[in-house]
Formats: sequence, structure tokens, C-alpha cells
Amino acid sequence: MTCEQYQIQIGQLLENELRGEESSTMFAHLGACSACRDFFHASLQVRAELMNAEPITAPDELDDRMRAEGLIPTERPISRTTSIWDLRIAFPLPAAASIALLLIIGSLFVAPVLFHDPQPQQKFPPDVLELVPVELRTPRP
Ligand SMILES: [Zn+2]
Repeated sequence: MTCEQYQIQIGQLLENELRGEESSTMFAHLGACSACRDFFHASLQVRAELMNAEPITAPDELDDRMRAEGLIPTERPISRTTSIWDLRIAFPLPAAASIALLLIIGSLFVAPVLFHDPQPQQKFPPDVLELVPVELRTPRP
């Protein structure tokens, strides 16, 4: 593969679109090629700056002009805020499995406290065993 192809893969990696076997060969190339390594660091830096940048919005007069020309709907959107029910939470599979395992193990410690039997166990005085018939105490041949 050429360096240009590896740099395309770097972009795919940053977008989480690179498969595991492709990323291993790409990282092996990064270990040997300083140009691609520099490209990788620059891509990470640009990405970090974009993540921290203020979102860019079009000025309101541009919206009004486009509405006047019929390029966008005339009604303004009611609200751009999203409901909490529309949010999606994604966990990587190992993290989700770890959380599920912790909940299962934690429930083992919590369950005896929640379902503790408040009645004390009945204790028999030592002479009760004397009252049990002998046939019940000896195993049958
Ligand atoms: Zn390279």
C-alpha cells in the first residue's frame, strides 16, 4: 500500500470506520513511516481543535433570505433541543459486559440484606434428639 492509502485509513480510523486487521497494518506502517506518523498527529490535532470549536451557525438574515426565495420551509423549527428519550447511549461491548457482571455480583451481596428472614432459626434443646424414634436415627440396611 502507498502512504496515501495509509493516510486515507488514518481518516477512517478517526471516524471509527477502520476494521481491526486494517488498523493493525496501518499502525505497523506508522511505526516505520515518519511522514504518515506526522499526518496522524496532525489529524489528531485538527480533530481535537474541531471538537473544542464553537459551532458555526448561519446568520438569521441568511435564513430569512432563503425563506423568502422558498429554498427552505417558511416555518421555523419549534425547538432544536432533543428530549432525553431521544438520546442514545452506546457502550462498547466489554464495558457493557463488565457493568452487567458487576450488577450480578453486587446483587449477590445485596440480596441477603434485602431478603433476610427476620425470624430467628428455631433451636432445639439438646434433649430433643432423645425424643426422636430410634428407627429414624439409624439408616436402614
Ligand atoms: Zn507512510
